[in-house]
Amino acid sequence: MLPRSFQYFAPASVEEAADLLREHAGDVKILAGGMSLIPLMKLRLASPGYLVDINRVKGLDYIKESDDGKSLQIGSLTRHHALESSPLVGKRAPLLSEAAASIGDPQVRNRGTIGGALAHSDPSGDWGATILAMRGVIKVQGPSGERSISIDDFLVDTFATALKEDEVITEVSVPIPPETGSGSAYMKLERKAGDFATVGVAVQLTLEERGDGVYCTYAGIGLAALGAKNLRAGKAEGCLTNMKLTKDTIAEASSAAERECSPSDDPLRGSAKYKREMAGLFTRRAVELAAARAQGRGGRGSR
Ligand SMILES: Cc1cc2nc3c(=O)[nH]c(=O)nc-3n(C[C@H](O)[C@H](O)[C@H](O)COP(=O)(O)OP(=O)(O)OC[C@H]3O[C@@H](n4cnc5c(N)ncnc54)[C@H](O)[C@@H]3O)c2cc1C
Repeated sequence: MLPRSFQYFAPASVEEAADLLREHAGDVKILAGGMSLIPLMKLRLASPGYLVDINRVKGLDYIKESDDGKSLQIGSLTRHHALESSPLVGKRAPLLSEAAASIGDPQVRNRGTIGGALAHSDPSGDWGATILAMRGVIKVQGPSGERSISIDDFLVDTFATALKEDEVITEVSVPIPPETGSGSAYMKLERKAGDFATVGVAVQLTLEERGDGVYCTYAGIGLAALGAKNLRAGKAEGCLTNMKLTKDTIAEASSAAERECSPSDDPLRGSAKYKREMAGLFTRRAVELAAARAQGRGGRGSR
């Protein structure tokens, strides 16, 4: 199908984009990678009369360390592939590279942006779960200025976020995990390569060796395709945080994730019961892999 006809704008600044959003409120959409919006428009599930293409806005495509070295700052127009292949991301926040590599196919990763994916808030999307695990922050700009929203507050519901209609996501930032003792893993169950998740689990851990064993000082766990939106597995995190990391604590965390998610039956990817069991299994596997990486085993993802 063809989309409805629309008026196209290509502003050069975020301010100009935000003004256009305000001027055409109720009938306007931002266009970033177009990987989600264009199919929706072709199916007429979205039919905006005005499109604000932000691809010519300067200064939204970057990956850098903050001045104090504590966080990684990512411009909202940064493509999935740039995150997958960036040496800085691989070194400072490898969970992001691993999650990015699992998204769609090369075409989707070359066009799709992190800002667009988060704004779309697809419950099966990989970015929300990943940014939840890292406790990231979304920076947005509107006609009345800038504000920062924690990822927990940003993701509101299926395809719904805390973004106001005249706001543009400008940046996503994540705290850089400590150099020693940190490990992460993104694990995704998919029907075939390039598919959306049947179940996705993002885990970020920091471990500390003490006299009587290894303790977990930070646990972040985000879930994809396991509820109405990307979910924080807060109870599972609680089973690990400040606890000695043992087979038992990992098993408790996996059971907690299994209980706290709320998947639905779907004819393509399986029953809610199956997905719930997979949530437990994938949480256990991802925590084990992140822990091994935190201890210098298991290849990429050490940090
Ligand atoms: C075949 C295929 C496979 C896919 N597989 C996966 C997958 O496995 N995992 C996954 O997570 N995703 C997957 N996706 C989705 C993909 O990641 C998209 O890139 C992403 O959801 C949307 O990003 P975009 O930049 O293309 O945004 P667009 O499609 O341009 O926009 C999406 C929405 O976000 C809004 N928006 C965009 N940028 C901003 C901004 N800066 N500020 C405010 N609002 C904004 C738009 O108005 C629109 O409502 C797939 C898509 C396709 C087509």
